[in-house]
Amino acid sequence: MKIHQLAEEQAYTSLRSSANGLSEQEAQRRLREYGPNRVEEIEKKHLLPSFIQEFTHFFALILWLAAILAFIAEWYAPGQGMAMLGYAIIGVIIINGVFSFWQEYRAQEAVAALRDLLPLQVKIMRDGTIRQIPASELVPGDVIHLTDGDIVPADCRLLEAFGVRVNNATITGESLSRVRSTGRSSEDEAQNSHNVLLAGTVMVSGEAKALVYATGMHSEFGKIAHLTQVTSAVLSPLQLEIIRLSRLIAMLSVCFGIVFFLIGLGLELPFWTNLIFAIGIIVANVPEGLLPTVTLALAMATQRMAKKNALVRHLPAVEALGSTTVICTDKTGTLTQNRMTVKQLFLSGEFYLPGKVNRLQDHPLLAVARYCHNLKQGESHGKQTLLGDPMEIALFELAQMVMTAYPDHMQIAEIPFDTDRKRLSLLYRTPDGDRLYCKGALETVLPLCQDIHLEGGIQPLDEPQRQHLLDAQEDMAEQGLRVLALAFRCCPPQTEVEHLEEKLTLCGLVGIEDPPRIEVPTAIARCRSAGIKVIMVTGDHPHTARAIAREIGLVQNPLIIVGDELRRMSQIQLQLALDAKEIIFARVGADQKMRIVQALKKKGEIVAVTGDGVNDAPALKAADIGISMGISGTDVAKESADIILLDDNFAHIVSAIEEGRTVFENIRKFMTYILTSNVPELVPYLAFALFKIPLPLTIVQILAVDLGTDLLPALALGAETPRNDVMQKPPRAHAERLLHWPLLVRAYLFLGMIEAAAAMALFFYVLNNGGWQYGQILPADHPLYLQATTACLSTIIVMQIMNVFICRHPTESAFRFAWFGNRLLLLGVAVEIGLILLIVYTPWGNSLFGTAPISLDVWLYAIPFALVMLILEELRKILLRYSNKQHR
Ligand code: ADP
Ligand code: MG
Repeated sequence: MKIHQLAEEQAYTSLRSSANGLSEQEAQRRLREYGPNRVEEIEKKHLLPSFIQEFTHFFALILWLAAILAFIAEWYAPGQGMAMLGYAIIGVIIINGVFSFWQEYRAQEAVAALRDLLPLQVKIMRDGTIRQIPASELVPGDVIHLTDGDIVPADCRLLEAFGVRVNNATITGESLSRVRSTGRSSEDEAQNSHNVLLAGTVMVSGEAKALVYATGMHSEFGKIAHLTQVTSAVLSPLQLEIIRLSRLIAMLSVCFGIVFFLIGLGLELPFWTNLIFAIGIIVANVPEGLLPTVTLALAMATQRMAKKNALVRHLPAVEALGSTTVICTDKTGTLTQNRMTVKQLFLSGEFYLPGKVNRLQDHPLLAVARYCHNLKQGESHGKQTLLGDPMEIALFELAQMVMTAYPDHMQIAEIPFDTDRKRLSLLYRTPDGDRLYCKGALETVLPLCQDIHLEGGIQPLDEPQRQHLLDAQEDMAEQGLRVLALAFRCCPPQTEVEHLEEKLTLCGLVGIEDPPRIEVPTAIARCRSAGIKVIMVTGDHPHTARAIAREIGLVQNPLIIVGDELRRMSQIQLQLALDAKEIIFARVGADQKMRIVQALKKKGEIVAVTGDGVNDAPALKAADIGISMGISGTDVAKESADIILLDDNFAHIVSAIEEGRTVFENIRKFMTYILTSNVPELVPYLAFALFKIPLPLTIVQILAVDLGTDLLPALALGAETPRNDVMQKPPRAHAERLLHWPLLVRAYLFLGMIEAAAAMALFFYVLNNGGWQYGQILPADHPLYLQATTACLSTIIVMQIMNVFICRHPTESAFRFAWFGNRLLLLGVAVEIGLILLIVYTPWGNSLFGTAPISLDVWLYAIPFALVMLILEELRKILLRYSNKQHR
């Protein structure tokens, strides 16, 4: 018989397991036999196709064409070094392809590594104790505990179930959730039987204990895994923009090429030479390396974020984060420490301090505190501890302070907590009959209560007493305490579940303190200066929420909207309400978070939202950036999130935003850097065509800069660490493009022009020194000509070395940066120097790039130009900063 058709006891025996779980030793043995509980990747991404792709994309094809034309030119007009050019271009294709491939590969590795950092965990019973292990170590026969929000880690048979509902959408595609319970099933198929939970499905509510019977590829999910694994990578808006941009620049350079070709025709240049020039111009201007550099810059940012405990699950989230304008955040655990202590009690109409509880022997409140929870006795780091909600632990410990030996009762039913009900009820079988213990928000518990426990005994709960309780709650909430109402009921036997939560007796209120995290006030202040609005969305009482929000400096006199009001608001009203400067949502259910997110998005905001529960998943998906909690987050929330906060800390959201903004700035920095050198590459050709001078810079030399010496420094600019000022300006506007006018003007008309002037000056300096006269034609292999072009090339490189430091910031002085702060940048410069020395001073470099060794004075004359560029740029920055200040 199949496992779902067996009774629980038989199910254990059929898998040679028991209620105490397997022994650790046996589990290890089974792990070796059945393998890890993992769905093997059916289709490993092959490297070869993506490698080949680096050599066959559009720009590479242009380069190939250029190379072929060069060889044809050699055929028609031998001896002009055209073959050399052909080889050089092929070399460029190879270097560029390998470099791009390496970048893409590293980016992918970085993202994959992040995934492995956070394995799925399960609560498991082995050798009679409960502990957490990675889900990949599960074996058949293991006994596991599941709660709402868990993703079922393996196929298993239910042993105990309270209010369990599962959503099988991942396996069957149906979106409705189904009730699951224990007991034998007569179904044929495990999939349809009511006592089976399938791997990969989601436990939407309830508590369960279950016996694992199939793991990894043996599970139903494993069997169909190959069907679902075909997911295609989606390009982020930024990547799309870069692609669009590269195309645009490519088109521009093609236009340049054509124009220059026509000029060449007009000047009656030899056809082949002319064509190669034109193609060279195109090639020089096409930013081949841009996309992989962007991807790598994003990937490197994810690594820095991971160090700050923010795990990025999708690369595009990095840049979305950078443009965040609103953060909707939870309170408990994110803004607060989630370290709960009972601070006050309200019993029989009086406030008590918890220190006085010893006088409360036999008070029913203690029984509720002791039994009404979903805690598990477990082991963590070899110590016996309670696993579960810190608030429940605080209550449990309160009860334990009075008395340690509570009898063990059997739990027979549960009505689970969720953010809409805001209460939890458990039914126990005790020797004195069935007892229901209930705790939750006063608003949801009070209506269920009929009586109240007072000093003199149980009395009917009248209206003044109800008001009294509500006032007491206000009182505690104003102090920032989280208030819980505790109640119980002696149930008649066989009460139906629907009628359990009725006629309760209220025992009292408990005020629990949850102090804010220490880092949060600073983080809130940073959000303020960065123009990011923070909205607290909590299930807690409005006044508790306000007190905490004030304490952390989030608000002063906020507009508070509670769940009931929100339900009555239309979309338009909600959007209008969101205009308020300070706003708090309190007593909201999870579905309402979704509405808030949607309304904000409608208003054109870029929304980041935090969430941890099952019901938060839709909001996490709807937001631009879904952020889930690493500690308190459910599996489902983590699956739906773009970013996981390992330590649940709000402050790290803000650091991640800082990284996101920095990436965007960094991309601009290296674009400025790359675009600058295009000018000193174009100007020589213009001068050559217009003023009939020898060509100051050859095509191969252009390629040496664009695809050689510029690469690593550009990458290093992409890896710059965040600067203080990124969080001191408002989020970038929705419509703000990556490539904007100030950047183009600065690169082309300012920095580029200075570089071009320097390069031309040095070119003429060498020519003049060699006795060249205007109008004199130098053959391409004349020693003087070779030296002059070498001087031009070397000057561009000297200027670019200066430029990389200049490009570290668009408006701040280069001197405000530690010159040695970015190691990659120094490495980039070192490689750049190494390359130019090879090009200038080795026979190999000389023949490949058409250069000749130059004397020291050329370098010495180039350096002042670099310094002048630095000074002019510093002046420009000062002016800019000054005018920015005037504008403010
Ligand atoms: P938060 O936004 O602070 O995380 P929750 O949605 O978790 O708020 O909780 C909302 C309310 O539900 C709390 O104020 C409390 O009254 C009640 N509550 C929270 N956790 C529990 C629990 N484990 N059992 C009973 N009631 C709870
Ligand atoms: Mg909560």
